[in-house]
Amino acid sequence: MLKIENLDAYYGDLQAVRGAHLEVHQGEIVALLGANAAGKSTIVRAISGLIDRVDGQISFKNKSLNEYTAHQRVEMGIVQVPEGRQLFPFLTVKENLEMGAYTKRARAQKNENIERVFKLFPRLKEREKQLASTMSGGEQQMCAIGRGLMAMPEIIILDEPTLGLAPLLVKQIFEIVEELRDMGMTVLLIEQNVRQTLKIADRAYMLSNGKIVTEGKAEELLNSEKVKESYLGI
Ligand code: ATP
Repeated sequence: MLKIENLDAYYGDLQAVRGAHLEVHQGEIVALLGANAAGKSTIVRAISGLIDRVDGQISFKNKSLNEYTAHQRVEMGIVQVPEGRQLFPFLTVKENLEMGAYTKRARAQKNENIERVFKLFPRLKEREKQLASTMSGGEQQMCAIGRGLMAMPEIIILDEPTLGLAPLLVKQIFEIVEELRDMGMTVLLIEQNVRQTLKIADRAYMLSNGKIVTEGKAEELLNSEKVKESYLGI
């Protein structure tokens, strides 16, 4: 569904991503793992069309994305839930969700989709009139994912959804990601939380200093000596 080949991405003279490749097939959870500053968010921004200087090839359903604007990519079904949630703090939960339905396709089905999101996240329904800024970190993350779903993604890209959350909430967010896959959604999951991510992902790529250094089936990576040593501290 999504294919990245030989991707280089730059901020001015700084090269943040070097020759990266990645593939996501329909219905999979694919993880992109790596430490701070590895280049994970840069790859996400390149997929979404938010980086000015990119070389290489990114395609979605066999169409090259290079000529499409960020907005057109969302229309095509590529939806990013950014790191740090980036909700509108002084809008209510429901208003934030409504802001997600900004494409033509999604606007037409806004009401049905809000009901779907409320079904997936009953907590958001209970708090639909509450200002986003007064929600807990976990609730805000649910709201950010819900807002992403309102854009009717074919692939949803979650950039570090568990960042800064307490362990119980981290577990809940991972359960939600699995639920999304069970609903038929395709997920690209960006994470630093290696062990828990590999437990729910189908396949994973490890990024270090802008390069993909390891890749494979999540289950195999979880048992690989190299991954255990480098990432799991075993
Ligand atoms: P984190 O988990 O900390 O978000 P990351 O793996 O997502 O890390 P990126 O945000 O992609 O890493 O950053 C990769 C490199 O690019 C870093 O060295 C960072 O300083 C640099 N970088 C990121 N955004 C910019 C920017 N807007 N301008 C200049 N350099 C940037």
